[in-house]
Amino acid sequence: MEPSTSTRKQFTINDFEIGRPLGRGKFGRVYLARLKENNFIVALKVIFKSEIEEEGLEHQLRREVEIQAHLQHPNILRLYNYFYDDTRVYLILEYAPGGELYKDLQRNEKLDQQRAATIIEELSDALTYCHENKVIHRDIKPENLLLGLRGEVKISDFGWSVHTPSLRRKTMCGTLDYLPPEMIQGKIYNETVDLWCIGVLCYELLVGKPPFESSTSNETCRRILQVDFKFPSSVPAGAQDLISKLLKYHPLERLSLAQVLKHPWVREHSRRVLSPCVQMAS
Ligand code: AMP
Repeated sequence: MEPSTSTRKQFTINDFEIGRPLGRGKFGRVYLARLKENNFIVALKVIFKSEIEEEGLEHQLRREVEIQAHLQHPNILRLYNYFYDDTRVYLILEYAPGGELYKDLQRNEKLDQQRAATIIEELSDALTYCHENKVIHRDIKPENLLLGLRGEVKISDFGWSVHTPSLRRKTMCGTLDYLPPEMIQGKIYNETVDLWCIGVLCYELLVGKPPFESSTSNETCRRILQVDFKFPSSVPAGAQDLISKLLKYHPLERLSLAQVLKHPWVREHSRRVLSPCVQMAS
């Protein structure tokens, strides 16, 4: 079953057996669920229409669902299908058994080179695919990354799901930490914003906190605009080289995704294993 509108099966909640809650975001409550017809396990996200309407986010939800439904890549969380009733919208999502990368990072503080480089390769490959399909993610950060069975990354949020930053990050600046200079300045930007975010993420994975973290939003902005960051000595030279070439003020000076994939530190340490895309039903 593919999410093309012409062939889309119309599901209802009765097609699913609902299991344990997996988590909740600002709008969605997510449950483990099983499709009764073939026992296929999914994550079912339930969104109350009233909450989306209150915030005027109907268009954003529709657009982002359309985007995610058409992306098929092993490191992008699949949106298999969706349906709705009078009060709720249901998104049928790929289940990510490894949970949130953010929690892993909180548990372990930082990741070793092997895991960090693997995640950077997986993300760069997924973003290459997004950019080829004219999709800019704009919001790569640990909170938006789930993990598959073997710990592989699944980009899970295509923007519609608005989180309350203060609940999710200990920094007061919330999502500011990952914003590139051109977005802070309200300039026109392009897909190179995702390269800045990969640089910030790589730093956070290896250090345990993002490079521009500060106690106030103003200070974070100042540091981002001046690209004011330092490496602790624990960060290996190869990773420092990669991060420094991504955290460039001028978007055109940033490494390209192809160059990230070929970077010696990524090549030496990544242990990426490709798992096949799983279809929900034939
Ligand atoms: P969200 O509203 O997307 O932030 O989802 C809320 C929480 O539910 C997330 O932080 C995850 O812990 C969990 N969750 C969401 N989607 C999935 C999924 N596809 N597989 C496993 N857990 C998920």
